Amino acid sequence: MSAQRRGHTAERPSPRKEGPAGAARIAASHPGASLQPHLDVRFDAPVEVPEAHLDSDPVQAHITASEELASLGYWEDAYQRLRSAVELMAGPEHRPHLVRAELDRLRREHAMVHEQARRDFLTASYNRRYLDDRLATLLDDPSVARSGMGLAMVDIDHFKKVNDRYGHPFGDRVLQRVVAELGAALPEGAFCARYGGEEFALVLPGCDPTEAVAVCERARIRIDRHRWLELDPELRVTVSAGVAHTVAQPPDVEQLLVGADVLLYAAKGAGRNAVAFREESGTVALAGAAGARRDIPQPASLDY
Ligand code: GH3
Ligand code: MG
Ligand code: MG
Repeated sequence: MSAQRRGHTAERPSPRKEGPAGAARIAASHPGASLQPHLDVRFDAPVEVPEAHLDSDPVQAHITASEELASLGYWEDAYQRLRSAVELMAGPEHRPHLVRAELDRLRREHAMVHEQARRDFLTASYNRRYLDDRLATLLDDPSVARSGMGLAMVDIDHFKKVNDRYGHPFGDRVLQRVVAELGAALPEGAFCARYGGEEFALVLPGCDPTEAVAVCERARIRIDRHRWLELDPELRVTVSAGVAHTVAQPPDVEQLLVGADVLLYAAKGAGRNAVAFREESGTVALAGAAGARRDIPQPASLDY
């Protein structure tokens, strides 16, 4: 039941706010209730729990508070309240199976919210936040320590023309399909994240330079060969990619991103629908057949 429907106020307070503390009040009335310590600090008046409940039924008070917190989306705290309720339960009148079902529901919702927070809304690929978080954790990854790590920036070619010709909603569906094709080309442990607009990062932990280029070339070919029967068989969509690789320990993520970006623009400059990478000599080359056919503009800086 929501706070509004009950006519209660249920706003998230600041820990500095003066005034009676809801959690503290429960704890004071029922010292045996043993609330999680952090609740006393974090909820100084988030939930108006009816006084009658506090005096007569601490279990119900916790459950009520939990419902309020859940309705506000504070899953973790709601879960803690339910735990307190379960711990306090003594008699059969408290119907533990209902509380357990509620706990399960909260856990599921919490997992769902957690997953949504790291996905891009349109394409369901990982989002930029997840990319940043994962890149940070990969610094300690054993597979990265063994073989280094590849990172590719992939950008759809002339995507503006697709939007201009077919409209934005159609363009959205193209983006979704491109993400599906990119994902299908990835080995285990690798992932795709939307970097922004029609640009995606492929993170390839534990791939050596040759494997990283091969994965990206495979992804490029998948998209090039996709026939778009679901949207318009006349449509042709290609992507360009730049693949950077590092064996540095720990990997310099910033440098990888910039390096991949420079290579992406080399691929664009070489005519698009291509994967650019740096050979051991530092020369920029294109993967696959395109490498032998096209002139490849060399980026001004060899720093990356
Ligand atoms: P290039 O080959 O040089 O990358 O050309 P481009 O047209 O792909 O690049 P440009 O940066 O000129 O245009 C990118 C386009 O991507 C423009 C923008 O409207 C479109 N775009 C970005 N995000 C979305 C989105 O979420 N949905 C749709 N439909 N279009 C998007
Ligand atoms: Mg583009
Ligand atoms: Mg772009």
